Amino acid sequence: MSDVPKPEELARIDHRPPELKGWMDMPVEIKQGIACYGGKPQNLEYVGLPNPREWSPFDEDWKLPENWKEIFLEGLRERLERFRSLKVFMDICVRCGACADKCHFFIGGGDPKNMPVLRAELLRSIYRREYTTAGKILGRLAGAREITVDVLKELWYYFFQCTECRRCSLFCPYGIDTAEITILGRELLNLLGLNIDWISAPVANCYRTGNHLGIQPHAYKDMIEFFVDDIEEITGVRVEPSFNRKGAEILFITPSGDVFADPGTYTCMGYLMLFHYLQDLGLDITWSTFASEGGNFGYFTSHEMAKRLNAKMYAEAKRLGVKWILGGECGHMWRVINQYMDTFNGPADFLEEPVSPITGTKFENAKSTKMVHIVEFTADLIKHNKLKLDPSRNDNIVVTFHDSCNPARGMGFLEEPRYVIKSVCNHFYEMPENTIREQTFCCGSGAGLNAGEDMELRMRGGLPRANAVKHVHEKHGVNMLACICAIDRAVFPPLMDYWVPGVNVTGVHELVGNALILDGEQERTTNLRGEPLPGMEEEEDV
Ligand code: SF4
Ligand code: SF4
Repeated sequence: MSDVPKPEELARIDHRPPELKGWMDMPVEIKQGIACYGGKPQNLEYVGLPNPREWSPFDEDWKLPENWKEIFLEGLRERLERFRSLKVFMDICVRCGACADKCHFFIGGGDPKNMPVLRAELLRSIYRREYTTAGKILGRLAGAREITVDVLKELWYYFFQCTECRRCSLFCPYGIDTAEITILGRELLNLLGLNIDWISAPVANCYRTGNHLGIQPHAYKDMIEFFVDDIEEITGVRVEPSFNRKGAEILFITPSGDVFADPGTYTCMGYLMLFHYLQDLGLDITWSTFASEGGNFGYFTSHEMAKRLNAKMYAEAKRLGVKWILGGECGHMWRVINQYMDTFNGPADFLEEPVSPITGTKFENAKSTKMVHIVEFTADLIKHNKLKLDPSRNDNIVVTFHDSCNPARGMGFLEEPRYVIKSVCNHFYEMPENTIREQTFCCGSGAGLNAGEDMELRMRGGLPRANAVKHVHEKHGVNMLACICAIDRAVFPPLMDYWVPGVNVTGVHELVGNALILDGEQERTTNLRGEPLPGMEEEEDV
C-alpha cells in the first residue's frame, strides 16, 4: 500500500493552470501513489491478451512490441469504424469547458489533465493528426500531435485515472461521454499489453474459477456456510441455501466481494435471511458456486473481455435450467447487464420474463436481459406488504445513501434503494442535491482502480463524495453510508476513515436483514455485525 499524505496536506489543492504553458508542453510524470502496477504476464497469458511480459509503469522501458505504433493506430482506425460514438466524440467537442470541473479526480487533485475535456483531448489530438486535414497540415496549431512513446505513457496514465463514472457526460451540452473514450482508450492500450494488474488479475481469476478473487467452488460454499452459522447464532434460525440446484426457478448471482470481504459479507447475510423468509411464500432459488461473480472486470479491459465474462452467468442459468436470474447489489455488473448484455450475449430467450413468485409482479424492464436487481425485488415485496420488518433495530444508525455511478447513471436506479432504506431504517438523510442521484460523485476507486498502490489517487478522487458525507455527518449525525455496489463497500471504509472518521459503510440488504422478523426467531440482541441492538447494550455487557 502506498504512503498517503495526511488529509490536511491532501486538501491543499491547487486548481490554477500552469502559467504560459500549453498542455502539450507538460511532459507526463508517472507518480507513485497515483499509478497502478502493470499487469503480470501470467494473467495476460491466461486470457490470451497480447504482449505478456514483466513490466512496470515506473520504468523507462515499457517493453512494447516493435510495431506498437502501427498496432495502436490500426486499433484506433478499427474502433472509429465500429463505434460511431467514438467518431462523433472525437469531432464535436467545442471545448466549452462545462465538464471541466465535474470530475472528482480534477476536483480532488487539481491536475488539469484530469479535466474530462483534456482527458479526451489526449486521444483526440492523435485522431486529429491521423484523420483531419487541418491536423495533418497544421499539426499542433490545430490541436494535433503524433503518437510517441511519451504520448502513449500519458494516455495510459490518465486513462487509468478515470473511473468511467460518466458524471462529466451529464453536464456536456453535446452529450460527450468521456467514460466511453476512456473505455476505448483502454482497449487500445490493451492491444499493447498495457493493462494494470488490479484489472488483469481479477479478469484471469474470473475466467478460471468464476470469480474475481480466484476462490474455488468449495471455498465459496464454505464461506456461505460460515454466514449460515453466524445467522443462527444471532437469530436462532438456521437458513438453508441451496447450491447448483438444477430445476430451481431462480438463479442468484452476486459480486464475490459480498462473500469475501467485510462489510459486504453482512449484506450477503441479509440476502440469505431474505431468501429463507420467502421460502414458505414460494421462493425457489439457488446459488451457483461456478457463476460466483456478478461483477465484470472485463468491462475495464475491452468489450470483448466483458462479453466473455458476462456469458458465464447466462451459461450457468442455461445449465441449471432456471427461469430467470436475480442479481445482487453491484455496480458495473448492472451497467453491463442494462446497457450491453443484449448486444453481447442476448437476447437470453432460453429464459423467461421475470415474475416475482411472491407478488406476481412482472419485471418488464428485465424482459430482455431476464435479470432483476435484488433491491427492486425487495422494494416490490415491501410495497406489497410481504415482509415483517422492525426498523427500530436499525435505530443506532443514522443513514445516508450513496448512489453508485453505474446503477444511478447507467440504469436510472434511484428510487428503489431509498424506498427500501426508508422502510427498514427510521433515520435517513440525503446528502446535498448536486452530489446525489444522477449527479452522484464517484467513490474514486471504480473501474479497476481499487488497488493498494494508488491510494493517494483514491483519496483525492473520493474527496468530493467524502465531503458531502462530512456535511450530513456534521449536520445530522449521519454515521452510516449505505450503497448498492460491492466496490463501494470495499473502498468506502478506508475513504471514510481518511476523510470522515466515525462513518461506517453498509449494503442495503444488511439493513434489511437487521429489520427482518424471521418466523421462530429468538429475541435478537445484536445486529448482523454482532453489535448490540439499540437498548440491548447492557445485556451484551453481562
Ligand atoms: S462539456 Fe462537452 S463540449 Fe464542452 S468541453 Fe466538455 S466534452 Fe467538450
Ligand atoms: S467519466 Fe468520471 S472519472 Fe472519467 S473523466 Fe468523466 S467524471 Fe472523470
